[in-house]
Amino acid sequence: MRRIYESIKLLIKNARTILIAGHIDPDGDTLGSMIALHLILEKLGKKSDMCCQDKVPPSFLFLSGADKIRTSPKRKEYDLFFTVDASDLSRTGNIKVTAKHIINIDHHADNTNFGDINCVELLSSVAEQIYKLAKELNVEINQEIAKALYVSIITDTGNFRYANTLPSTFEVACDLVLRGAIPSQIASAVYDTKTIAGMKVLSYALDKIEKRGKLVWSSLSHEIIKKTGATHDDLICIIDYLRAIKDTDVTVFLREEKENTIKVNLRSKGRTNVSKIANDLGGGGHIQAAGVTLNMPLLEAEEKVISTVMKNM
Ligand code: 5GP
Ligand code: MN
Repeated sequence: MRRIYESIKLLIKNARTILIAGHIDPDGDTLGSMIALHLILEKLGKKSDMCCQDKVPPSFLFLSGADKIRTSPKRKEYDLFFTVDASDLSRTGNIKVTAKHIINIDHHADNTNFGDINCVELLSSVAEQIYKLAKELNVEINQEIAKALYVSIITDTGNFRYANTLPSTFEVACDLVLRGAIPSQIASAVYDTKTIAGMKVLSYALDKIEKRGKLVWSSLSHEIIKKTGATHDDLICIIDYLRAIKDTDVTVFLREEKENTIKVNLRSKGRTNVSKIANDLGGGGHIQAAGVTLNMPLLEAEEKVISTVMKNM
């Protein structure tokens, strides 16, 4: 790691233009890490642009700097291009820029090492990596950086519940709290954001639950989603409710974003490796949280996913 940090330091020092990109369908980890890195670079006297193909969900807009994240990059060329939380360059979506150097900071085991520098460690979240990087760069973590990193950690560990929660995760979180991240305020800002449409669409998903052995799944058609008026942000948390059912291992949720575009969330409580299942289906992720988008009708996708999961359980 030492050599990697030294190279990153040097590249930052010499860069005049810097882009930080997150992954499509941005989550708390990719957003918190982008913002923290942006603020860290600012403290080093370096301006950076932030970019994510898809919009920042409203529940993360309270983070200072979140409003600066654009859906397309300002420039076509950059000296330095950081990707955070992206296991492959394709995960950044349609962000097409040329860069002299790509620095890939990620914690996915299936990372393809696509960068010129690959800072890949199997920690709870990219936030833990950015925290270490800040220390290496001698940047004092202030309250705003601490808040962003804390959001990353709680969202990627399911509030310190998933198996990726390590002793180091608590150490980092403890320091972030000491530096001004207030757990109750952040949890409320991130989680107490449910809408009525979201609750209604959830009721349809709960009504459709099916269980076979230790597998539980549900799905929502585009028609139902449209009828309730639920937005993308209302849909991404449904998997967490389904996952809470007792005596289950794998949880699957399929949603028809539009005709022939089915987003699939896969979760496991540890016995089954859902990253392998997602890979088999053309997606990716972690052992306990993975996903894929399938281009086929909803019923066909449901059959395909459920049979693939059954084979792997
Ligand atoms: P989610 O189900 O919340 O969208 O994603 C869970 C995990 O799987 C995240 O780490 C996310 O980056 C990864 N993931 C989700 N969808 C895809 C996909 O289509 N391809 C890859 N490679 N990873 C995905
Ligand atoms: Mn992550």
